[in-house]
Amino acid sequence: MDDGVVAAVDGVDLRVRKGETLAIVGESGCGKSVMARSILRLVDPPGRIEGGRITLNRASGPVELVGASHKLLRQIRWQDIAMVFQEPMASLSLVHTIGSQIVEAVRLHENVGKAAARRRAIEMLDRVGIPMPQRRVDAYPFELSGGMRQRAMIAMALSCHPSLLIADEPTTALDVTTQAQILELLRDLQDEFGMAIMLITHDLGVAAQVADSMAVMYLGKVVEYGAAEQVLAAPSHPYAQALLRSMPRLGRASRTRLTAIKGMVPPPYARPDGCTFHPRCDRVMAGRCDSVEPRLVPVGGRDVSCLLYEPDHHGEDE
Ligand code: SF4
Repeated sequence: MDDGVVAAVDGVDLRVRKGETLAIVGESGCGKSVMARSILRLVDPPGRIEGGRITLNRASGPVELVGASHKLLRQIRWQDIAMVFQEPMASLSLVHTIGSQIVEAVRLHENVGKAAARRRAIEMLDRVGIPMPQRRVDAYPFELSGGMRQRAMIAMALSCHPSLLIADEPTTALDVTTQAQILELLRDLQDEFGMAIMLITHDLGVAAQVADSMAVMYLGKVVEYGAAEQVLAAPSHPYAQALLRSMPRLGRASRTRLTAIKGMVPPPYARPDGCTFHPRCDRVMAGRCDSVEPRLVPVGGRDVSCLLYEPDHHGEDE
């Protein structure tokens, strides 16, 4: 492979407001996680941010994160923006107790003594539904079940009361019951602390349970963005429609077949020309979709990137 630049995420323009949950959905390889990790500059090398703006509106005024110093980013992590991952062990240290990790995070950002930080740790473990928090605070991560570890990671993420929580597939590794409990917990904590949540998920069912707004991503771009209710009730983009058809739903006739989306997401370095979804699209227009790149245009109260909706759909200037 040559050493040129491959854009894993390109031209994404999203907003998450206080108290709101924005779900970013799409299959694996759509650029959701890279986009979310870019916010806190956690992209693994050789990945890097080539340009753009990421603005955090703090009480003291807006702060630009692209190009921010490491010192400022360290302040912002946990205190303003916290992140939870699919695998709790990505954030938790094996060799330290849960409590000592929460205490360290709190004391790094707030001028509080050890005893007060420990009280905060116990309170947060209790708040996320960990039984006997006074004892569990001294447990090591490996002594907890998967669901409990996930809760402990959320407790750590929320211990500094961030204004934005980025949750990257936070329930994917969990059974359905624990998944539902964690989602409910996130909703409750959001109500209590008024924080914004950016939820990254491949599962539209998970997004449907918590999202206020929704962005569907395909190959590093947003293809549909709008109110979650609207997108889920009647998706406009053929990719969003296909994702919805592939999802089991309550109330759907039991004999209705779920339809898998044909083909695979190509790697970013093999991005198709024109609309990147065209090799997999069941509404592809030959001679147009493979050469013209669609723009995001307003369609019925949301933004959609598909040539079917562009005003010049019938004009032939390509
Ligand atoms: Fe399908 Fe063409 Fe729309 Fe792309 S632009 S989603 S290929 S109809």
